Amino acid sequence: MTHLPAHLAAIEHIYLDRSARDEPLTARVLDRLPGLPLTEREDEAGPVEHPGTGQALWLRRFKGRFLRPCPGTRIYHCCAYQIAHIGENCPMSCTYCILQAYFQDRTLKVWTNRDDFLEELDRTFSEDPTRRWRIGTGEFTDSLALEALTGLSGDLVEFLGRFPNVCLELKSKIVDLSWTPRVPRPDRVLPAWSLNAPQIVATQEQGTASLEERLQAARTCADAGFKVCLHFDPIIHFPGWQEGYSRTIKMIGDMLAPEHVAYISLGSFRHMPELAGIIARRHPQAGYVHGEFVPGLDGKMRLLRPLRVEQFTFLAARLTALGFGPALYFCMESDEVWRAVLGRTPGEFGGLGRYLMDRAFGGERDSG
Ligand code: SF4
Repeated sequence: MTHLPAHLAAIEHIYLDRSARDEPLTARVLDRLPGLPLTEREDEAGPVEHPGTGQALWLRRFKGRFLRPCPGTRIYHCCAYQIAHIGENCPMSCTYCILQAYFQDRTLKVWTNRDDFLEELDRTFSEDPTRRWRIGTGEFTDSLALEALTGLSGDLVEFLGRFPNVCLELKSKIVDLSWTPRVPRPDRVLPAWSLNAPQIVATQEQGTASLEERLQAARTCADAGFKVCLHFDPIIHFPGWQEGYSRTIKMIGDMLAPEHVAYISLGSFRHMPELAGIIARRHPQAGYVHGEFVPGLDGKMRLLRPLRVEQFTFLAARLTALGFGPALYFCMESDEVWRAVLGRTPGEFGGLGRYLMDRAFGGERDSG
């Protein structure tokens, strides 16, 4: 039996749609999960309803568009990032995870029609080679959580070697660097890790790598010529947050230098109203969910603005003192918050999407 990382140990059953049976990606996954019970099913059989307590893996073809804009809003500044949709759900369990509101089940879905995926990317990116793209796979799943089974990030980075106009971000909370030897251009791939205060990692992020492991992996990537991204998202308001986030920022300063980092996002915990109930029911340890939240203009609940600004200011000051100031941006915040914390608004520097694009491409300015 292949040695699997701990975060995949709960997978106990494979469901396979008939039309996915002969896909090369299916063969690869089955080869890496020998001996697990497998149920073959008709494509039209509806969602998988797995009766067990462990996790189910569902191998199926995806029929929609693989590439789509990140659902930011026009009210807040969004980062103009495109989602490459590789599958749904995640084997780890973070109490605040938004996927709990997106999906009713915890079935890990892998799209097996990799050739359709790559063909769509090929068509899109070939259309205008002067147009730059910033894409990522970590929106509906963790980018690397299933890499040990699918090898899909490895396939993707290799394929994207033909497209110098595309920068791929791989966002994760685990460590899997198996794809790195397949990268033709490290300057077009951004390994990214989400970070939090040590107490939050320990109590709210089940199955993830430790902070030390994440930052060590980021350093390994930086030494191999990649720029890395860090995401403080979601920043949680909890007793002792100052000390917790200070410790994490100190660890960043010990492991990484500003020139290693493309960007660092700061995003306060925000949620659709229905997510709060799900979190409270499933995760009694998630006391932060009972904090002071108000509805934002996008319908999501957010921490009261003075508290958000206080936390952002605290983190930004410490990261700036270590030289990471130019890398900072906010995920989904208004001009008021930008100005209060960083003293500048995206409109003053050409827009957030463009700024991040330039940083993703190593400071190369867009000619357009
Ligand atoms: S690692 Fe990311 S995708 Fe997975 S459970 Fe945690 S927040 Fe959700």
